[in-house]
Amino acid sequence: MNRDNKGKFLKGSKPFFSEEHKSKISKGLEKAHKEKGYSKREKNPNWKGGKFKDVHGYFWVRVEDNHPYAYRGYVREHRRIIENSIGRYLKPEEVVHHIDGNKINNILENLKLLESESAHHREHFLEKTGFYKRFTDKKLLKK
Ligand SMILES: [Zn+2]
Repeated sequence: MNRDNKGKFLKGSKPFFSEEHKSKISKGLEKAHKEKGYSKREKNPNWKGGKFKDVHGYFWVRVEDNHPYAYRGYVREHRRIIENSIGRYLKPEEVVHHIDGNKINNILENLKLLESESAHHREHFLEKTGFYKRFTDKKLLKK
């Protein structure tokens, strides 16, 4: 292909992508973005390519399309980290607790899997009353 010294296409030389091809590409992208909701997310100031913070201060991360409990293709990051660690999807009733109380401190060592919201409440109660002892229920680790 002929370009001038500034990299511009020279008059008369044939561009690599025809106009028809270009419009097909942009239509395809538009369609893909609409289907995946990308256009909305890109307008969100918290959009950082696959990760964002919600109004409650939790991080969400993009997951595979066939994730059974994803919300619009996203799950909360602390849940995802546990999922990656134990090799299975968390059930909706299971709760991931932040040991240090900081909901954006999503390192594995700060996360604890609990079987239900009531177990989670018990956890907070035990922490408050000083009977807190870190444990992970072994039966929850089964696939
Ligand atoms: Zn908690």
